[in-house]
Amino acid sequence: MKVLVSSCLLGEDVRYDGRNSSIAMGSSFTFSQKEIFMDILCENQIYSFCPEVSGGLSTPRLPAEIVSTTKPFKVETNDETDVTIPFLIGAKNALDICNEEGIKVALLKSKSPSCGNTHIYDGTFSNTLIEGQGLTARLLEENGIRVFNETQLEDLKQFIESN
Ligand code: SF4
Repeated sequence: MKVLVSSCLLGEDVRYDGRNSSIAMGSSFTFSQKEIFMDILCENQIYSFCPEVSGGLSTPRLPAEIVSTTKPFKVETNDETDVTIPFLIGAKNALDICNEEGIKVALLKSKSPSCGNTHIYDGTFSNTLIEGQGLTARLLEENGIRVFNETQLEDLKQFIESN
C-alpha cells in the first residue's frame, strides 16, 4: 500500500528546530513501536513529505501555531509573522501528491500545526494542547485520506492489513 509519511518521522531534519522526530531512532518509542514502524516501512511504498518545507519555509524556522482554527485559518510564528499561505500551500501539495499517486493513508506527526491529526497547540505558545487538526491533516481527511499519528502505529497497521 502507498503511505504518505511525515519526513521528520523518517529521520529527516526538517523540523522547525532543524531536528527530526525519528521513530526508528527516537528514545521515546518502545521496541515494539519501532518494530511495527519498520514493518510498515518495509512492506509498503513510502512517500516522505514535509508540508512546511514543501510550502516554501526554511529549516530551521520559527515555531508556528494555528491562531484561528476555523476558516479563514491563520497560522503565526511566535513573533506574530503570518505564515498561513506557506502552510496552506504545503497542505495542498500533500493532497496533490495523494491524488496523483493514489495514496489513501498517511502517517503524520502528532501535534504539529501542519501534520497533527487529533491535537494541536492552542495558538498562545504556552505549550497548551487542544483538540484539533493541523492544516495538512485536516485537508487530507476532508478528502477521504485516513490519517494516523506515531502513537497510532498499531491502528495504522490494522488499517493497511484490512485495505
Ligand atoms: S510539517 Fe510535518 S513533516 Fe514537516 S517537520 Fe512539521 S511535523 Fe514534520
